[in-house]
Amino acid sequence: MSSVPSGTLLPNKWNAEHAAGLSEPERLLYRSNLLGSDLRITNFGGGNTSAKVWQKDPLGGGDVEILWVKGSGGDVGSMKLDGFSTLYMDKLRALKGLYRGEEFEDEMVAYLPHCTFNLNPRAASIDTPLHAYIDKPHVDHMHPDAVIAIAAAKDSRTITQEIYGDDIGWLPWRRPGYQLGLMLEAYFNDNPNSKGVVLESHGLFTWGDSAKECYDITIDIINKAIVWFDAKTDGVEIFGGVRHQSLDAQTRHSIASTLMPRVRSFIDASERKIGHFNDSDAVLEFVNSNKLNELAALGTSCPDHFLRTKIRPIIIDFDPKNPNLDAVIDGLADAFAAYREDYKSYYTRCKHDNSPAIRDPNPVIYLIPGVGMLSFAKDKATARIAGEFYVNAINVMRGSDTVSTYMGLDEQEAFDIEYWLLEEAKLQRMPKAKSLAGRVAVVTGGAGGIGKATCGRLLQEGACVVACDIDTDGLAGAVADLQGVFGKDQVRGLPVNVTSEESVIKLMHDSCAEFGGIDILVSNAGISSAAPIDETSLEVWQRNMDILSTGYFLVAREAFKIMKLQKRSASMVFVASKNGLVASPGASAYCTAKASEIHLARCLALEGAPFGIRVNVVNPDAVLRGSKIWSGEWREQRAKAYDMAPDQLEEHYRQRSMLKLSVLPEDIAEAIYFLASDNAAKSTGNVVNVDAGHAPSFTR
Ligand code: NAD
Repeated sequence: MSSVPSGTLLPNKWNAEHAAGLSEPERLLYRSNLLGSDLRITNFGGGNTSAKVWQKDPLGGGDVEILWVKGSGGDVGSMKLDGFSTLYMDKLRALKGLYRGEEFEDEMVAYLPHCTFNLNPRAASIDTPLHAYIDKPHVDHMHPDAVIAIAAAKDSRTITQEIYGDDIGWLPWRRPGYQLGLMLEAYFNDNPNSKGVVLESHGLFTWGDSAKECYDITIDIINKAIVWFDAKTDGVEIFGGVRHQSLDAQTRHSIASTLMPRVRSFIDASERKIGHFNDSDAVLEFVNSNKLNELAALGTSCPDHFLRTKIRPIIIDFDPKNPNLDAVIDGLADAFAAYREDYKSYYTRCKHDNSPAIRDPNPVIYLIPGVGMLSFAKDKATARIAGEFYVNAINVMRGSDTVSTYMGLDEQEAFDIEYWLLEEAKLQRMPKAKSLAGRVAVVTGGAGGIGKATCGRLLQEGACVVACDIDTDGLAGAVADLQGVFGKDQVRGLPVNVTSEESVIKLMHDSCAEFGGIDILVSNAGISSAAPIDETSLEVWQRNMDILSTGYFLVAREAFKIMKLQKRSASMVFVASKNGLVASPGASAYCTAKASEIHLARCLALEGAPFGIRVNVVNPDAVLRGSKIWSGEWREQRAKAYDMAPDQLEEHYRQRSMLKLSVLPEDIAEAIYFLASDNAAKSTGNVVNVDAGHAPSFTR
């Protein structure tokens, strides 16, 4: 009897009734999505599935055998039918006649498009021959942690035999490509009754006669590994035992948020990076262990893992028992220099004459004893996924190291994959980065009309956005809308009261822990009020000052500190008002507070310039749609002042404008985007009016 709790075994989720109603390609998709729904079966984007399907040829009309196989890129868990490439099996078989041997295997990739069935535009992946030449209708190739733990163990062949007997074979490491396809074919032809194969340092292949049989076998084989490991590791010291204790969750979070902007100051030179913090149990067990340094130095094993994580992480020299963070910070420059030197030596040792130029030598994964793991990449999803891949790698090391000796991938093999010309070609094909990619924007008043439109505009340009507001219900709605359009990774909603120093400090720290730092601050939270001076209570006066003057000061001061730490250009945009330039009767508190905002921006433009921090102002006027300011008392008061009904106000303002146009939240957002982006890299201390023309507000 295994000691494995049933919850840790993979459930068999196959629904026969549902599957019966599907076509063969749809059943393949169903199987793929089921397999990809659990990261223990395969990592994000890792692995692929296939089916050989007989179908009508659009040219000849007769039945032809077509390989449906997950195409290049994509993820089995979330892919749709259009994620498969489709290729004629007879043409794939005919390719064997063109093969000139191992040395030339890369040239076979160029032949794959010639085998395309039905003009399918989905590019075929490098793994296509691995599926094509196994003479079984259904094939799965997965990267399960439990099986890679076997594949990365020194005696992986013996362990494979011990667990699976003759059911599952074993093939030595060979990087994916045409030759590996032929090795799999030969293995299957010699062992027609086998159910699959473990590929050393890589993963698992399984096959079956039907989609269901293939799925059942895949789940069963992985579960056997889970049961075996559980029995072997029961009561055994993991990672050589515990060396450090974890700090409490709040301290871990605070250390991460303190370190992340500083890390960015060292790694953002060629491309801005977004950070991700992970302090899951699996990570803490590893970073707190005696074997952290030894195992991390060996590098990750599965090619999928290290392509995302780089072959080695950096270990931050931190002792949770003696938590001297200042010393850690002082040591960062040397630690980064050493890491980069090490990476450059690896490149020089392993490069070939035709290798692509060295890529960014900075670390992706940062391990901190007692605290957890940071990961940095060009966008949030990539940073998060890199972290998840390292967790896969930790799981693999945990298994291998406990039952055998963990083996990282040979350095030259790792290099040959990292700098593979085909991999380089993939990178070159990537679309150009958006204008705000790698930047983090904090937008106060994010639940309001102008704030939400601004978040949307910045997200559209690739920024990560923290929308923050005192109105938590409104914020939840705005964030849900934004996440619906831009996805969950890029958007966060955080509560803030801009008048509270404590709340603002917390907001900035939390933003750093979420994304790594702050590059853009849009200070926009606001209210409005109107009353003649002799009816303006001290409370109303103070409220305007608190939110619009003190609030802008607090938010700017705290963001300024972080921007300075990052040692990179940054931008602040204050959303003031035409009332800050032009006196309006009956609104002295609001007008004076808005004037204070504008002058604060000018002062900060002066102080920020030596650090590359630009500070500019956008002055909206009469943005009625979407604005909460205009939904209440202010609207009534303004309508009363002009002796008209509230619903006539928008038209009134349109007619009052020089251009006879209504001003919308999106118009303000566009000006904010311009000033926040590098398009305005040479502008600071400026005021841009977005008011459809109002001569008294002319700034010069
Ligand atoms: P809005 O009311 O729709 O949005 C303002 C947001 O600020 C609200 O979600 C509110 O909850 C938030 N907020 C208020 N007090 C806060 C606090 N203490 N802490 C955190 N958040 C707080 O209004 P809007 O029209 O989108 O206005 C945005 C900015 O534009 C304001 O600064 C406003 O003064 C300025 N402005 C607007 C207009 C206009 O016509 N709409 C004209 C000139 C200036």
